[in-house]
Amino acid sequence: MRVYILTIGNEILLGETLDTNMAEIARGLVEAGADVSGHLTIGDEVGAIARAVRDALAGADAVIVTGGLGPTPDDVTQEGIAEALSVALHVDEEIVARVRERFRRIGRTMPEINVRQAEVPDGAVVLPNPVGTAPGLRMESGRAILYVLPGVPSEMRAILEASVLPEIRARSQAPAPVIHLVRTAGIPESEIAERLAALGGVAGLSLAFLPDPSFGVDLRFVFRGTPEPERADALALARRSLGEAIYTECHGARSAVTLEVALGEALRARGATIALAESCTGGLIAKRVTDVAGSSDYFLGGFVTYANDAKIRDLGVDPALLAEHGAVSEPVARAMAEGARTRFGATYGLSVTGIAGPGGGTPEKPVGLVWLGLATPDGVQARRLQVPGDRRWVRARTAQLALDWLRREARRTP
Ligand code: AMP
Ligand code: MG
Repeated sequence: MRVYILTIGNEILLGETLDTNMAEIARGLVEAGADVSGHLTIGDEVGAIARAVRDALAGADAVIVTGGLGPTPDDVTQEGIAEALSVALHVDEEIVARVRERFRRIGRTMPEINVRQAEVPDGAVVLPNPVGTAPGLRMESGRAILYVLPGVPSEMRAILEASVLPEIRARSQAPAPVIHLVRTAGIPESEIAERLAALGGVAGLSLAFLPDPSFGVDLRFVFRGTPEPERADALALARRSLGEAIYTECHGARSAVTLEVALGEALRARGATIALAESCTGGLIAKRVTDVAGSSDYFLGGFVTYANDAKIRDLGVDPALLAEHGAVSEPVARAMAEGARTRFGATYGLSVTGIAGPGGGTPEKPVGLVWLGLATPDGVQARRLQVPGDRRWVRARTAQLALDWLRREARRTP
């Protein structure tokens, strides 16, 4: 089944809204066993929408349109579709009643402008929207199906999953591919590619490398028609080759957890706790650790110690170390980690001190130089990083590498 995706909205063409709907729809379609035959983004203009819809319908088994269904006059997707199919629009009283009811439940009266959202092309079947007011629509044109979904990502997703993907899955002749996601941290893409070179010979496997400059490399295994024993062998080879660089895996691609969740699981499994001492990351690591619900089980607290005085006062760093080695140095990173660990009474103390830039670098201590410290019950370790990129990337990558170091340490059997 060949499916074409049309995303509509001036805000996308202006670069203000990132077209995440396209990516999400495409992922869902691939998992449902369909081929995405193409994608186009167009502005909120009736004629352009009508032309794009007509072209898309001519070359695909199904077309998914998203965006431009709001109540305001700039949203004209319904008009464009009516023009493409040469049908009229009518007000769907059931939708009006439902929208009116949604407003009533939150104690408001529906503004009359919202009636616009209930204007649907003749012949359209309404797909219920469980999470918002704009309805989804399903139409047929020749042998192609046309789905129209709201642009608000949560509403798009709800209708896609409840009404669109089940039908696509049922109609796809090709068996749905088996998808497996493996997430790694602390290992470069090129090294992963070398270690997994042998997977090139696995029939039916396409392996996608999804690197994120600050969050590591995800590996998406898509097996089409590969028998189960060979799938298992391929994944076993990946596990052997990548070892502890893998922090999580999942079937499908939706239930993957983040590094901070994996870290939390490792800490909880050991009954361990952590405390932080951050300088150049300014609380970014604490933010990510506490993004995880239930992190109070293992996160005791942390200091953001930017000034030398704060490192001395809050972490007990010896002023002589700062004077002799400077704040960005191995001895200070070690002292910060140990200070956080003892002051909070945690199993682990993790510290970061570095030069995020753009200023502040010297030939001996260039921008991107970062020292990490990790205090454990067995002693204190330190690691030197030279992180590429501008200030934002230096901070983000440092946070990732620090969290990953702690995760690896916590996973190691005592
Ligand atoms: P609309 O249905 O065009 O009124 O869109 C409502 C809101 O949904 C927009 O303001 C955007 O924030 C968001 N949105 C629309 N299209 C997309 C898209 N393709 N990807 C992500 N967000 C979108
Ligand atoms: Mg819009």
